[in-house]
Amino acid sequence: MITDQAVILCGGRGERLRPMTDSLPKPLAPVAGRPFLVHLLGQLRESGYREAVLLTGYRGEMIHENLGDGSSIGIRLEYRHGPEEWQTARRLWDARPLLKPNFLLLYGDNYATFQPQRVEEVFRTHGCLGCLTVHPRETRANVAVNAMGRITAYDPTRRVSGLNAVEIGYALFSSKIFDFFTGADESFSAVLERLSAARQLAAFLQRDAYQSISDPLRLSAADAYFTPKKILLIDRDGTINCKPERARYLSAWKDWKFVVETLDALKRLAAAGWAFIVISNQAGVGRGMVTEEQVWEIDRRMKEALGRVGVPILGSHYCFHHWDDHCLCRKPEPGMFYAAARDFSLRLDQTWYLGDDPRDCTAAWRAGCRCGYIGPPRDLDTLPLAEKPAAMFPDATGFAEMLLRP
Ligand SMILES: [Zn+2]
Repeated sequence: MITDQAVILCGGRGERLRPMTDSLPKPLAPVAGRPFLVHLLGQLRESGYREAVLLTGYRGEMIHENLGDGSSIGIRLEYRHGPEEWQTARRLWDARPLLKPNFLLLYGDNYATFQPQRVEEVFRTHGCLGCLTVHPRETRANVAVNAMGRITAYDPTRRVSGLNAVEIGYALFSSKIFDFFTGADESFSAVLERLSAARQLAAFLQRDAYQSISDPLRLSAADAYFTPKKILLIDRDGTINCKPERARYLSAWKDWKFVVETLDALKRLAAAGWAFIVISNQAGVGRGMVTEEQVWEIDRRMKEALGRVGVPILGSHYCFHHWDDHCLCRKPEPGMFYAAARDFSLRLDQTWYLGDDPRDCTAAWRAGCRCGYIGPPRDLDTLPLAEKPAAMFPDATGFAEMLLRP
């Protein structure tokens, strides 16, 4: 890892969350039974970070009292306290003595799916002083990212044309960015504008929806997002039903055959409160060998058959594109995972995907999702180490047992 140090901006007043923030600093707002900041620090710990510097301001002493040295969370915490009115740049400038040569900068009120290796890879490849994590967006965007993944404009006033994404924290910086500060009392936006003008900022595109607790509406959405769920994402052909022969596509329900072990596993999981979302490539449609209507008819019959044995399918996502379409949904692209996550407020890093193909593993990895693989281990030999599944079983029986273990 390039760094194991995170810096979190915790100083804001949280105006839009009043009256809650009259007595509480925003990062301590309770979300699914825990202070928001604890979710964020837990994610950083899981991602391999060992240390976080909290830049506190408004009611900062409460954060210190609550989290202490971080030992209860498993990440070492340091504090740099400044007056409430300090802006981001001033807080960062003041924290310089504590900062490592590279550090990750986050907002204390934002949360996104985070894959440190991927952000670091972009940072390294571009050789810039910073790599911002951005989410693609048409309206109210504040950065322009070009086709190469370089940031060509940063505009907090959102007036420049060509803005196509919004910056969401999880920004990896070299401490050399301090050369771009003109003084302690300027805005950090001005620093980012200067860095982007000097072509010193790259972008990591995170398409998964991000969470924020900036206002009551978003706070309640974050609450739903952080509430644990028993929802399993699952592949169809080869996992739920016996795979049709290579380059053949299932076009009629009469040819459907459940994989016995999976059917049994789904029943056991359903009895313990689990529900399921199907994620499946159906390029047979794009290739003109099956119709969308046929796929949806099979889907209806599958849901019916599973419903009869108590297995709830909450939804299905099919990619009908031909591989030559280069869409963002066909696995190993993660588009269908993001759609499912949006529909059911899924926290992907806590969600499992079960599949039987190396592409399932790659897709889950790209989505930041945990992957269970059922099939011959040797089929995964060529898969890069990072993309290897978190769990591997000959069939779905062992996988279900793993999920059911207390
Ligand atoms: Zn597609």
